[in-house]
Amino acid sequence: MSNLFDLTGKLALVTGSSRGIGKELARGLADAGASIVLHGRDADRLAATAKEFSEVYGPQRIHSACFDVTDDQAVRTNIGKIEEAIGALDILVNNAGIQHRVPLLDLAVQDWQRVLDTNLTSAFLVGRAVARGMVQRGAGKIINICSVQTDLARPTIAAYTAAKGGLRNLTRAMTAEWAGSGLQINGIAPGYIHTEMTQNLVDDEQFNSWILGRTPAGRWGTVGDLAGPAVWLASEGSNFVNGQTIFIDGGMSVVV
Ligand code: NDP
Repeated sequence: MSNLFDLTGKLALVTGSSRGIGKELARGLADAGASIVLHGRDADRLAATAKEFSEVYGPQRIHSACFDVTDDQAVRTNIGKIEEAIGALDILVNNAGIQHRVPLLDLAVQDWQRVLDTNLTSAFLVGRAVARGMVQRGAGKIINICSVQTDLARPTIAAYTAAKGGLRNLTRAMTAEWAGSGLQINGIAPGYIHTEMTQNLVDDEQFNSWILGRTPAGRWGTVGDLAGPAVWLASEGSNFVNGQTIFIDGGMSVVV
C-alpha cells in the first residue's frame, strides 16, 4: 500500500525556517521525504540551519534562500531563481511572521504596517509568486501559518490579530481562486508555542500561569506539535481538504 504521507520527490519552501516553528515544520517535511528550501533574513542563522539539515538529510536535498518576504521584487526574483536552479515548488509554507506588543492607543502607523506586511502581505506576495507555477502545473499545496489569535483577541496585539485574521480569510480567498486548478490551500492556527518569539511570555510568571490555566492541555505547545499536521496538509492524505484553518492549540480555542 502506498504511504499517503510520503513526500519523497517533492520540493518545499518554508518561509522563516531559519529558526522556531518554521525550522521544525521544515524538519517534519524533510523527515517525510521532501527536499527543502530553508529561508530567513539573517544569512548567518540561515547558513547554520542549512548546515545542520544537510548533515542529516544530505546536501542534495537541502537548499536555502535569503530574502525579505515583504519585498515584492525580492520575492519574485528569489522564487524565479529557486524554480530555475532547483526545480518546481510543490509545497509552500507561509510561516514567516513577527509580533509587536503595544497598546492600540500607542501603536505607531509604521509598526501597524510592518506587522501587516510581514504576517499577511507576505503570504499574498510569496503565495502569488509560487502559485503561478502551481496553477500551470495543476497541483500544489500551500499552508498558511495563522494563529489562535485569528479567533481570540487579547490586548496589545491588535495589528497581529488583524493580520492573522486576514491570513485566515486569504486562505479562503486563495481556495476560491486556485482550488479549481488543483491546489490545496489550508491554514494552521497554533496556540501558544514556546519559541524565541514567545520567550518573554514564558519568562513572565503571571502570563505563563495564565497560559497554563487557559490551555486545556495544561502546557505550552512545542514546535514539534505542529510538524504532523503540516506533513498531513502537504501530503496526498489531505487532497480533499481545502480552505480550512486547523487549530493546533491544546484546546484553547474551544473553551472559555
Ligand atoms: P520566530 O520569531 O522564532 O521566527 C520567525 C521567523 O520568521 C524567522 O526565521 C525570521 O527570520 C522570519 N522572518 C521574520 N520576518 C521576516 C521577513 N520580513 N522576511 C523574511 N523572514 C522573516 O517566530 P515563531 O517561530 O514563533 O513563529 C513562526 C510563525 O508562527 C509566525 O508567523 C508566528 O506569527 C506564528 N505563530 C507563532 C506562535 C507562537 O506561539 N510562537 C503562535 C501562533 C502563530 P530571521 O531570523 O532571518 O529574521
